[in-house]
Amino acid sequence: MYRDQDIECISRERLQELQLKQLKKTVKGASKAPFYRALGLKDFTISDLSDIRKLPFTTKDDLRSAYPYGMICTSLDKVVRLHSSSGTTGTPTVVFHSMKDIENWTELVARCLFMAGLRKHDVFQNMIGYGLFTGGLGLHYGAERIGCLTIPTGPGNTKRQLKFMKDFGTSAIHVIPSYALHLSDEIEAMGIDPKKEFPALKYAFLGAEPHTEATRKKVEEFFGIDAFNSYGLSEMNGPGVAFECPEKHGQHIWEDAYLVEIINPDTLEGVAPGEKGELVITTLQREAMPIIRYRTKDLTSVIEGPCACGRTHSRITRITGRSDDMLILKGVNIFPMQIEAVLIGIAGVGRNYQITLESKGHNDHMIVRAEIDSNLSIHDFKTLDSLKKRITRELRDEILITPDVILCEPGGIPVAQGKAVRVIDNRTL
Ligand code: ADP
Ligand code: ZN
Repeated sequence: MYRDQDIECISRERLQELQLKQLKKTVKGASKAPFYRALGLKDFTISDLSDIRKLPFTTKDDLRSAYPYGMICTSLDKVVRLHSSSGTTGTPTVVFHSMKDIENWTELVARCLFMAGLRKHDVFQNMIGYGLFTGGLGLHYGAERIGCLTIPTGPGNTKRQLKFMKDFGTSAIHVIPSYALHLSDEIEAMGIDPKKEFPALKYAFLGAEPHTEATRKKVEEFFGIDAFNSYGLSEMNGPGVAFECPEKHGQHIWEDAYLVEIINPDTLEGVAPGEKGELVITTLQREAMPIIRYRTKDLTSVIEGPCACGRTHSRITRITGRSDDMLILKGVNIFPMQIEAVLIGIAGVGRNYQITLESKGHNDHMIVRAEIDSNLSIHDFKTLDSLKKRITRELRDEILITPDVILCEPGGIPVAQGKAVRVIDNRTL
């Protein structure tokens, strides 16, 4: 039932001792990184876990400002891997790992998968992106560590996914929730009974984007399987940060590797136990690139009291939103500013723009409305058509998603009274 009972069911007292020891080590290590050295991190003394509150926060912007190598605290000889979260231009955020970091990450993911029920006889089909994204390689290593036959299909190519699932008797899939629903639609349209077609299938791991309990139920009922919520972010390795146990009541966040705080994003003070706020995490095991008090911007709360599964690590509730304006479409993170930057750079585009998000079937869809410059005529169809094509192409290159672009006449987009409403989210979660 447990992969490592000693650590998964460790007493809270012992856990805190371990955390304190690791926190001291982390702060000492991190203070050697140019970014934290400049902040004077070495002058902070940690004698108690509550001393964490004296330390500075780290944000995504900080990671960008430290690009490329400013967050590394070991010699480059020790670094073996780089990952990066979405965003193709501008300065990406990059995360570095030593061999030991990869090893620890692999163990954390293996712990999650084992907790959900995965064993070495399982056949695991990984439908999440490989490459700079962390979802693919992260779960890949974890499943191999358990000893599963691991199939790195990556996302897309639904026909081949289904063929492999059937031919190889896939028993577990890792998938973005919206893609899981899309898969169900395709299967239904083919007139296939999923329970007969894929009798070996037992588990789905749903990760990388927010989803509801209703989505989980849909996936579970359609395939006749158990689905588990998997939470992670590349700054904290990627997947393997928090994962549901078979109780499916909150996700255990592994506190031997992550020191958890929930803060009020406005006051930056800790919230009362059980209250909702922004998740802030300090790495406790990372060697090449430790991160202190990382503001995830994800909103959640800690579920109080012990879990019936016996594990003592805290549980967090489903992420209910973000404290910044980041959008997640098809598992890809997008900031409205990225869209603005593209539009501003194109001659012929006017001042105002608006982004609308819709659900098209189970897929997210983006519509970008942009005003044209007052020098252009709304009757010059040829120019407008090539402008529209250029905007579409440049946006796709930037955000990796192809939006529908609609050009409007100058003043055609209503101007808000107060803060501009740039994003209208009509998606049904
Ligand atoms: P990933 O490859 O997991 O998407 P990123 O670093 O690109 O990693 O994005 C991380 C963000 O994705 C998180 O901060 C969170 O907003 C969102 N996310 C990841 N997993 C989940 C989940 N299970 N539920 C809700 N949001 C999630
Ligand atoms: Zn549990």
